[in-house]
Amino acid sequence: MTTKPKQEDAKARLAEVDALFNSIGDGALATDEFGKIIRMNPAALAILGYKSKEVLNHWFPSTVVAVDEANEPVPLIDRPITRAFLSGHPITEKTYYRRRNGSRIPVSVTVSPLISNNRPVGAVEVFRDITVEYEIDRMKSEFISLASHQLRTPLSAVKTYAHMLLDGYMGELTLPQRKSLTTIVAASNRMNELISTLLNITRIENGSISLAPKPTNLHKLTDEVIKELIHSANAKNIGLEIKSRGNSLILKTDALLVKEIITNLMTNAIKYSPENSKVLVRLQRRPTSVTISVADSGFGIPLHAQPHIFTKFYRAQNVVRRETSGTGLGLYLVKGLTEQLGGKIWFSSEEDKGTTFYLTLPKHTITKAALPATLQSGIKMV
Ligand code: ADP
Repeated sequence: MTTKPKQEDAKARLAEVDALFNSIGDGALATDEFGKIIRMNPAALAILGYKSKEVLNHWFPSTVVAVDEANEPVPLIDRPITRAFLSGHPITEKTYYRRRNGSRIPVSVTVSPLISNNRPVGAVEVFRDITVEYEIDRMKSEFISLASHQLRTPLSAVKTYAHMLLDGYMGELTLPQRKSLTTIVAASNRMNELISTLLNITRIENGSISLAPKPTNLHKLTDEVIKELIHSANAKNIGLEIKSRGNSLILKTDALLVKEIITNLMTNAIKYSPENSKVLVRLQRRPTSVTISVADSGFGIPLHAQPHIFTKFYRAQNVVRRETSGTGLGLYLVKGLTEQLGGKIWFSSEEDKGTTFYLTLPKHTITKAALPATLQSGIKMV
């Protein structure tokens, strides 16, 4: 007497699942534990251009072929379904699928393994055609890249002539003229930095940033950054100091990107600190990485702002109130660059006490180099 309602319940639930599976707008499919396709919804069939009978009971990896940027098949071991089976966790990834007619389509895929009694018994995959997103992204990147390059040319003319005027090539300057020109040079430098930031963000977002790892002396690199920032630090009487424990650090990394990261963090530390304070950069060797920290005793980041600090265009109210200039792009870029280098970034901060940003970068190849003694311990720069 009790079995019948239970069976009906089960049937009703199955019908619900069927209806859900068939009516969602994204592609959805299910495989058994061997990777054989046991279900594929109409949206998936339409995206891939197959008929149901051409895919059902076929082996998923060879039926729905994933390809890379170069249109080469993605090896089975790298496919999200394999990784989901192996890890037992859902995997989300962007890839390309090859359609029945041979064309390639960008998709965002999420594969969830179905686990029963601690072993995978199948997988469910949901995927979405992201052709339009890709196209919009590509157009956006192309526009920013084009606009940035076009802005650079006239800007370099402004900078060159302003420098020539300042250097007295066109005659003696009065004090107000000199002041105005100094402002023009500073503003064009800021604009140049902004253009570089935009270009770098575009490269990160469209995955076109190219890394050129080479042995890099981290201490020397930080030293260079300090030299470049010394004027802005001096203007507020802020002392810049490096401390590195033990031997100097040689990393196999992309020096330009690391320099960009340290420059951004130190620029912020100076900008968001009061006059007569200190910014301390520490370099520390770890077993498989190095940690760089940039500490200031400045305005700090309010607690409520802390979760948003790496978000594009975000600026905390305490610094906005102080009328400091900024775009909210620096830390977004720093985080993106750090991740490109295989590193991690985090911070600790207390409002009106100060902020420390920490960054770990993988060593890859790190060797003890015989460097001048001055580079082996802390150097007081100011
Ligand atoms: P920007 O400095 O151009 O505003 P960033 O992305 O570099 O943009 O930083 C985002 C925000 O994080 C800043 O506006 C500021 O609120 C906060 N911030 C970053 N670094 C510091 C720091 N060293 N001290 C205090 N606040 C900071």
